[in-house]
This record gives sequence, C-alpha cells and structure tokens, in this order.
Amino acid sequence: MTIPRHRREGEEPFRWEGVDVREYKPDDGGEPTFKDLSRQILFDDSNLDHQVRFFDIEPGGHTTLERHKHTHSVVVLGGHGQCLVGDFVFDLMPHDLIAVEQWEWHQFRAAPDDHLGFICIVNCNRDRPQLPNAPDLERLTRYPEIATFLGLTHPGD
Ligand code: MN
Repeated sequence: MTIPRHRREGEEPFRWEGVDVREYKPDDGGEPTFKDLSRQILFDDSNLDHQVRFFDIEPGGHTTLERHKHTHSVVVLGGHGQCLVGDFVFDLMPHDLIAVEQWEWHQFRAAPDDHLGFICIVNCNRDRPQLPNAPDLERLTRYPEIATFLGLTHPGD
C-alpha cells in the first residue's frame, strides 16, 4: 500500500516517517567519492518523469564531485554549507535555490559545524555521472576559491 502523505518527524537529522533512508551510491569497491551523507527518495511515482530526493550531509561531509547531461533543481531546507556549480562556489542557507545545468561540475559540502539538507529534483531517466580526471582537476583548481572548496592545491602552486 502506498502511504500518500509523509509527515516530518523530529528535528535533526531531517527524516520523514515511512520514507527509507538509503545508502548514498553503494560502494563499487573504489575510493568513496562522497562523505557522510544520506539520501531519502521523497517522491518516486512511475507516472512522473522526475524524482524528488532529500540529501542530508553531516558536518564536514560532501557529495561526489561530478558532472552529467541531466540537470538538478536544488532547494536548501536546512543547515549551512557551500556548493560548487560550474566555475563558482556559493554559500548555502535554507531556502536557497541552485540550478545545476548540463555538464556543470558540481559538489555540495556541509559546513564544518553544521549539517546541510537539501531537496534535489532530477529526471527519472538520466545518464551516469562522470568523475573528474587529472586535467579536469587541474583546470578547476586554477580558481583559488575552488581549490580551497575542494581542499586541493593547484599542481603548479
Ligand atoms: Mn549530480
């Protein structure tokens, strides 16, 4: 039976009763490209072309740095952090809206002392993400703000 309505339960971390908490991208055996986050699929109706997911990143955690053809529509619900989208790093707070366009590098990071919770709306049918190779990281880390965000230094520095 499908439960048509899910109420918020508790305060932190954000959870909805009756909605499973899923492991974020099950480990393929390689080095994890993400840290300390959970995923809940809030709406996954076969009559819709999109899914509505909720990600909750623990303090200091982050999503995978990736890019893909499909796009993301992100609504921050709670906490604080930053995101890299394309060539820009943005500070995030509740109610911020972030659009990730096709092929833009993107990563979300929680603040060191706060979680970051956000809704991410995505197409059901979507391509697999690409991870950055060495030249991609070399180009990204030319921007000092992005290098700091990623916790990396540019190879030439
Ligand atoms: Mn993505």
